[in-house]
Amino acid sequence: MSARNDAPRVAVVTGGASGIGKAIAERLAADGHQIAVFDLNPGEAPHSYAVDVTDRAAIDAALQRVHDELGQVGILVNAAGLDGFKPFLKISFEDWQKVVNVNLHGVFHMIQAVLPEMVDAGWGRIVNISSSSTHSGTPYMSHYVSAKSGVNGLTKSLALEFGPSGVTVNAVPPGFIDTPMLRKAEERGMLGDINKTIEATPVRRMGKPEDIAAAVAFLASEEASYITGQILGVNGGRNT
Ligand code: NAP
Repeated sequence: MSARNDAPRVAVVTGGASGIGKAIAERLAADGHQIAVFDLNPGEAPHSYAVDVTDRAAIDAALQRVHDELGQVGILVNAAGLDGFKPFLKISFEDWQKVVNVNLHGVFHMIQAVLPEMVDAGWGRIVNISSSSTHSGTPYMSHYVSAKSGVNGLTKSLALEFGPSGVTVNAVPPGFIDTPMLRKAEERGMLGDINKTIEATPVRRMGKPEDIAAAVAFLASEEASYITGQILGVNGGRNT
């Protein structure tokens, strides 16, 4: 059953085949929206498109299919992301570019491709998934934190520019969410003892992808129309 009585929209979710993006796609579908997933390995679900968010031509081609198959896009959630762990002095410029390309330039391409139809419609919701690492900084992730901080700044600037057009732009920086990305980092020994992190988390648990999806669903809803340019941390109280 739909959790809201909002008008059904077409929602594009990048990174929607895994972890946080997948939970967002499922939640927005439960809220009555039609979902298009853009991901590197999108899976078999209907309206799942193989798109690298750094490839503008691939984005434009997939968006054309979304228009033909589902209609005009009203909601865009940028959840595709790539982490990286290296001491700053060991980060090559290629490492830097790879991480910034996916996490920041990918968001630029997606928003620039989708915004015109939102402006034409006079209605749009954009939610960018950044990272709680932008609150505090994180050692060995300077490229990732820089890119995600750029996403927060882009969010604020676009909120000012497109508020008059009926488009809201917000960011959700997640912290410590149990996803394949986080578990891979744990396996590589990049996270230390997860139980110690849980002990240091005010709500005493890891986050679930559904925790992020709930915040995104709210920001994508009609009733969030007076909320724009905000960075809504969902992190169990680890960053305030
Ligand atoms: P995840 O399970 O790895 O999901 C990320 C998805 O993005 C994957 O399906 C991945 O595809 C896809 N992707 C990567 N590069 C892409 C590209 N160039 N084009 C299109 N899709 C691409 O990770 P997650 O933890 O759910 O992360 C979702 C978002 O939350 C990311 O932006 C991440 O930075 C952010 N985040 C997560 C946490 C956390 O605690 N988990 C904390 C802070 C921020 P492949 O798997 O095929 O590579």
